[in-house]
Amino acid sequence: MSNHPARHNAITRIASQPRLEGTFDFRSEKLDVVYGQNVFSLDKMEKRLPKGVFKSLKNAIENGAKIDNSVADIVASAMKDWALERGATHYAHVFYPLTGLTAEKHDTFFEPSGSGTLAQFAGKALIQAEPDASSFPNGGLRATFEARGYTAWDVTSPAYIFDTENGSTLCIPTAFVSWTGEALDKKTPLLRSMAALNRAARRLLKLFGNPEPGYIAATAGPEQEYFLIDSRLYHLRPDLYTCGRSLFGAKPAKGQEFEDQYFGTIPSRVLACMMEAELECFKLGIPIKTRHNEVAPAQFEVAPIFETANVAHDHQMLTMTVLKSVAAKHGFVCLMAEKPFAGVNGSGKHVNWSLGGAKVGNLLEPGSTPHDNAQFIAFATAVIRAVDLHQGLLRATVASAGNDHRLGANEAPPAIISIYLGDMLADVFEQLRKSGSAKSSKSGGTMHLGTDSLPVLPKDAGDRNRTSPFAFTGNKFEFRAVGSSFSIAGPLVALNTIVADSIEFLCERIEAESKGKKGAFNDALAKVVKEVLQKHSRIIFNGNGYSEAWHKEAERRGLKNLRTTPDALPEIASARTVEVFERQGVLSKRELVSREEIYTHSYVLSVGTESKLTSEIGRTVILPAAFAHARDLAASHEALKAAGGKAAGKALADVAKLTDQLSSALDALDKLRAESHEGTHEAARHAVDKVLPAMLKVRAAADALEEIVADAHWPLPTYQELLFLR
Ligand code: ADP
Ligand code: MG
Repeated sequence: MSNHPARHNAITRIASQPRLEGTFDFRSEKLDVVYGQNVFSLDKMEKRLPKGVFKSLKNAIENGAKIDNSVADIVASAMKDWALERGATHYAHVFYPLTGLTAEKHDTFFEPSGSGTLAQFAGKALIQAEPDASSFPNGGLRATFEARGYTAWDVTSPAYIFDTENGSTLCIPTAFVSWTGEALDKKTPLLRSMAALNRAARRLLKLFGNPEPGYIAATAGPEQEYFLIDSRLYHLRPDLYTCGRSLFGAKPAKGQEFEDQYFGTIPSRVLACMMEAELECFKLGIPIKTRHNEVAPAQFEVAPIFETANVAHDHQMLTMTVLKSVAAKHGFVCLMAEKPFAGVNGSGKHVNWSLGGAKVGNLLEPGSTPHDNAQFIAFATAVIRAVDLHQGLLRATVASAGNDHRLGANEAPPAIISIYLGDMLADVFEQLRKSGSAKSSKSGGTMHLGTDSLPVLPKDAGDRNRTSPFAFTGNKFEFRAVGSSFSIAGPLVALNTIVADSIEFLCERIEAESKGKKGAFNDALAKVVKEVLQKHSRIIFNGNGYSEAWHKEAERRGLKNLRTTPDALPEIASARTVEVFERQGVLSKRELVSREEIYTHSYVLSVGTESKLTSEIGRTVILPAAFAHARDLAASHEALKAAGGKAAGKALADVAKLTDQLSSALDALDKLRAESHEGTHEAARHAVDKVLPAMLKVRAAADALEEIVADAHWPLPTYQELLFLR
């Protein structure tokens, strides 16, 4: 128990925390009713819309067809009636600006009319709104006098009602563009990239002799890791509530070394919080499937069933909102920083990605004899080529100040992008690379279940590999390098676009090789697959991504190792990225350059905030605590000296040494902070090369002081308290 009054008070209150179990009901009969109740879903639309209107809306949602204004008017009216029945007073266009957060502007349905008020909601208000865009990052896309930004209804993502204790709002997912039509958000390129992938995949499927493959969608299932920290302790840590991560904190006596947390019994207070968050997600039609303890103390995970990439993205953003607000009700703070605690595992968001359609199924499903499955091989080859060509871009989509502390930290994938295929597939692709055909697939082994009457089940083709940033996991790829706080849009846009472009490359080569030759498709495919793999299979790596040997091997293979955000971000507007993104109609050069600028600026701001706070806490919290402790020691030393006692004098000398060290480290940091740099890129380099190392020196001295300063003088909750008290 802490002797410092603020910490003492917080801990006493945690110990007597009233439990919230019992204030809501999470039982199956309830869930049945609740699921999707706040969503204006297809079946609700079918009931409320005229047949023709419903048909054209459904066609727009499922096949990307356009809808006209008369349809929008009727949909808006039905949507409004439904929302009013459910008690909504306002509607909001929800959009996803380049801050990576969710933005919304609320307007009421009610307008004064004669005797009272009248609820209004025209098709025009559904289709388009005009929030002032001047304060959103635009990276030079427009001057502030051209502040107009438009949000446009995204019909492919269902509208929903967001309930709070006090009232409800109808939320309409939208895309956000400037008045010149340039993308100012994460949704616009996501929709464009899905269209590109659909186009390319259909073209390849047609070459495979499938004239009507139907709409092909990218699919995504994001697993979210997060920490739950007691809110009373959190609010005594300005670094946590300002930066999301601790800038100070000595290594605790107990960390995660016992490995007693992973998949352990979920603590009851946490479980109650998870259940309530899931209940809220269910109301919103978010198909949450999995919950469990993660590796670090106080770390947990939630994962949904996958959906089409666009809906999965919106649902992921909502899941984060719900987790944070429900956690607050339970006296927790939900931390989604990538590395909130040094020396303790950080949090990622594994984005599972594939592509497929209602008619053709999952196109990355290998089947039990993958060497036969030419279609799988073609699509997987396109992914391999895309990831090799655009390793840098993929790395850039997971780059941020926060994620830099996680990637390569021996618990998360390295900053080198590579693909894990597992033994069986790696073997198949190796055969294809050598000869253009694969005669057998190295059996994953068969598991005999102890009795011959049971069927022989194929074992998973290849083990799991936790060290790979991009792993094939049976019938999808899992992009593990994504940070916990990230919008999944960036990684999805990149994957959809580069894979679409690679699929088209394959199509063109196959068409060229088989031109004029009847029945030459199979030979052409084999030739092209072989050709592509010979060039790009260097990206395949099944070994240990954490090892030093891999860094050397990757360098030998010519793979990129972009260690930090300033190293990675230039890839967003590289000539290679621009060429492919323009060809696929996803983002123009101007849009890409603006994104790179925004993300670089945001990096500079993050390090700027962290370094200022490091200095502030160092000077106004830690040094004074150490000085107070020194005064006590000096007094003790005086008292004991006559009797020959030396301990206090010795302790005082230690404090003197460390406070001097801290004080000079702070001076050095402040000197670097005072330097100004013209360009954003120069500022980012200064931040990563100079400022961050100087912050680490401050921290080293401060953390050493934490280990010797009397507990009664130490105001910041310790790692022990933050990670273990709940
Ligand atoms: P784990 O990776 O822990 O083994 P699962 O295999 O259950 O977990 O899947 C993890 C995530 O991958 C889930 O969100 C799941 O819905 C998603 N997923 C499964 N199939 C696909 C797919 N075809 N496309 C995208 N995501 C998928
Ligand atoms: Mg997983």
